[in-house]
This record gives sequence, structure tokens and C-alpha cells, in this order.
Amino acid sequence: MAEIILNPCPICGSQIPYKPRVPMKTCSPTCRAERKRRIENARYQAEKDTPKWKQRRAESLATLRRKLASDPEFAAVFRAHSAASSRKWSEKVRAESPERYAATLAARRAERAAWRARLASDPAAWEQHKAQCRAWYAALPPAEKERIYQLPRKLRRQQQ
Ligand SMILES: [Zn+2]
Repeated sequence: MAEIILNPCPICGSQIPYKPRVPMKTCSPTCRAERKRRIENARYQAEKDTPKWKQRRAESLATLRRKLASDPEFAAVFRAHSAASSRKWSEKVRAESPERYAATLAARRAERAAWRARLASDPAAWEQHKAQCRAWYAALPPAEKERIYQLPRKLRRQQQ
């Protein structure tokens, strides 16, 4: 005999447990989170790319750029956080679809090669780039030089 579900969960279709005076819209905390995620995603998709949304986004990006330019401490925290979340995202993509990850890497390599070719074809730009790199290296604090260059070199030598 098939079970008759009187009050199905909109996410998974199983019976929502009855709790007096606390009407539940889903069967479990997992389905509750999924329902909230779908509602929020629908709201975002409906609002996204409207003129009001574009204006608000442009304003908040301008505020962020001003804060990044004026507050070095905030900028360092922001960059570290962005780097950590993009690392997390790329690890997720790498684990879930290796072919998409490989395509992204290939696209990045092609972009980098094109940039490199543009730079090599323009001697003034090449000299300017070298000067920028040297200034950046000269301005690095000793701890950063150690972390970026000397420590990896020591590790490579230990492995050989
Ligand atoms: Zn459910």
C-alpha cells in the first residue's frame, strides 16, 4: 500500500513532521536551508542587472575602491580574504570538474602569453615593466623576501 503524504515537503517531497503551534514549511533543517537558498536565489536573479541594482553595485564598488586606496591595513585584510576565497573556489572547481579547471588554467596561460608578447614587442613598456618589478622587489620587507624567495629556494635545495 502506497503511503499517502498529506503535507509534503516542497524540497524533497517527504512528510513534514507535525508540531502543534509551530507550522513547518519543510521536513528538516537541510530542506529548510535549501528552501531559503532557492528563495534568496530567485530574489537575486529577479533583481540582478536592473538599473537600480547596477547603480547600487557601482556605488558600493566605488566605496570599496576608496577604502582600499585610503586604508592599507584594510587593504591587506581584504586581499588576504579574497585570495583565500578564490583559492577555496578553485579547489572546489578542481575537485568537482577537472576539465573545467584545466580549461580555466589554459585560458589564463593564453592570456598571460598574449600579455607577454605585447610587452616584448614594445621596448619602452618592457623597460617600464622591469623598473616596476625592481621597485616592487626593493620595497619588499625582509620577512616577505624570505617568505617569497628564500624559503622556497631552501625547500627546493632540501628536496634535491
Ligand atoms: Zn524535505
